[in-house]
Parts: sequence; structure tokens; C-alpha cells
Amino acid sequence: MDINIGEIPKIKIAEARKNLSRRGFLDIELDPELDLFAEIEKLKKEKNAILLAHYYQEPDIQDVADYIGDSLGLAQQAAKTSADMIVFAGVHFMAETAKILNPKKKVLLPDLKAGCSLADSAPSELFKQFKARYPNHIVISYINCTAEMKALSDIICTSSNAEKIIESIPGEQQIIFAPDKNLGGFLNKKTGRNMILWNGACMVHEIFSLEKITRLKVRHPESKVIAHPECEEAVLAAADYIGSTTQLLKYTLQDASKSFIVATETGILHQMQKNAPDKTFIPAPPNNACACNDCPHMKLNTLEKLYLCMKYELPEILMEEELRKAALKPILRMLDISKAAGLGG
Ligand code: SF4
Repeated sequence: MDINIGEIPKIKIAEARKNLSRRGFLDIELDPELDLFAEIEKLKKEKNAILLAHYYQEPDIQDVADYIGDSLGLAQQAAKTSADMIVFAGVHFMAETAKILNPKKKVLLPDLKAGCSLADSAPSELFKQFKARYPNHIVISYINCTAEMKALSDIICTSSNAEKIIESIPGEQQIIFAPDKNLGGFLNKKTGRNMILWNGACMVHEIFSLEKITRLKVRHPESKVIAHPECEEAVLAAADYIGSTTQLLKYTLQDASKSFIVATETGILHQMQKNAPDKTFIPAPPNNACACNDCPHMKLNTLEKLYLCMKYELPEILMEEELRKAALKPILRMLDISKAAGLGG
């Protein structure tokens, strides 16, 4: 190793900057002796930065974050922070949402390639054509979508507030729900609406195997199955409880059961186990042998990339003002309805 702790030769930094758009992150080798936890804490203070992390991030990142939450909680934190810099340990659409809410602040994402299969399943140009077929409908979009999709929407929702958002719309008003067809189908059943659904899905939540969950349930009859509403209908039908990431976390704390089979991204198990060390959490198995219930996009962020992005303030989320303003309106509507419904914030 030819570098001292904390000291990176300028030439390496220049090279990493040059390759940033191709690599998606600052690709600089770090001294393994560098205490990344302490360095990140130091950078937070020096730069008046807040570190927001999604529950699906790796445990090390969750442990160093100022706030850990699901999409709704993260958007609410981003809306009210007084920090000068927002470092978003999550995926691209989340950091974009923070930028939409905070145009004057610097918003950083450790790896620009941390995307989202669900957001990718709704290209805005195709959605525009789809929307034109239903001129009397309003559009409610799940927050897991691009800024361009948000700009085409009337209200944004998350899995925590979707029901309240839909209930706030008069019954006679027709609705398009995008981009997640599984969440949309679940909400149609719950609210009795007949929303038109865009045919998008999340690669992680679609992968759970009902057969394997059933087999697990036979082996652990005392376990309750809990699932995120992005899962397929058959998995949801087998669940004892369905809820957003935060609702699942609360449920495992409050319910008397000692064991849970968890059908959502595995990152949440870290907080579940921390909050209830006496309980057992079993990740629901995917329908093949790989670790496909880990979101490959979320897991692109690492402690090293996080440290480098805070130190050199790259990669940064930038956005055209016209797009930002158009995407802001439906997010603000969501935050207002959530607040009125008493959903945090
Ligand atoms: S878990 Fe699914 S919805 Fe969430 S970021 Fe990953 S791909 Fe997107």
C-alpha cells in the first residue's frame, strides 16, 4: 500500500474524478487501517452534513447514519433538515427526492449507479402515452420512480401512506396508480377502488417463493409471515401481516410472537434484530438459490464509497430547475396529506 492513512495522492483523486461518470463513484483505494466510522463522524461535523440511510442499506451504514427510515420517513427528514449537506445512503430516486425538496443544499449519493428496478420499469416517455389514454384520471405514483415520472404525477405516495392518500381522493375521481402493480392491486383490494395499474414491479419483492415460504412455515409453525405490499398477490395472501418497511418493523416489536418469516429486502432484519434481540427473524427465501432478496442496487453503497463521497463531495445529484419544480408539487401534496393524517413528519 503506497498511501498513508487519510492521505490520498492528488493524482489518484484526479483520476477518480475523471472516471466518475463511467464508474458511478469515486474509485479510490483506501488504507484498510483508516477508521471509516470515526472519519465519517468527523466529516459530518466538519461539513454540517446529515446522513440519511434506508433500512435496506448494509448494517455498517445503518449504524453510522443519523436517521434510518423507509421512503416516507426519509423524505420527511429531507424536507425538514437544517444541514447544509444531505448524504443519502439509498438509491437514486431517494437522493433525487431529497434534491427536489432541497434545491439549495448539496445532495450526495455514494454510488450514482444505485438505481431501482421498479423506477426503471416506468420510463416517463411510455408513461406519458399511457396517461394520455385516460384523460379523466389523476395519477398517484409510488415514490419509487424517477423525477420525470413524479413530474407527470398529481400525488406521490409511499407504502406507509398510500391508503390515506387514496382515501383523500373523492370516490368518483378515477385514478391511475404507478409504477408498482403489486402494491396497486393490494391497494385496490384494501380501498375498494378500481385504479388503473401501470405494469411495473420490483425485482426483489417479486422473487419470493410461496412454496418455500410454506415449507418454512411448516418447519416453524410458531412463526408469523410478514410481507411488504410490493410482493406478489400469492405471497401477500399467505402473510399474517402486510405493511410498509416501518410498519413491519413496528409489528415485530409489538406482536407477541417470538419468530417471524420476513418477506422483504433483508437489510431490515438488522434493525428488527437490534430492536428485539430475543426474537428470531427468518428471511423469506427467493425462488432460486441466490441471495436475490438482497436489493443489488441498495447494496452498491458501501462504507468506503460513503466516506469518499462525503470527503470529496461527489457524486452529487444535480437537476434542471423546471423538472425539479414540476416534481416538487406532487411530493408536497403527499407530505401535506401525511401530516394531516398524523403520519409523522
Ligand atoms: S428493493 Fe426494489 S423497489 Fe426497493 S430499491 Fe431495490 S429494486 Fe427498487
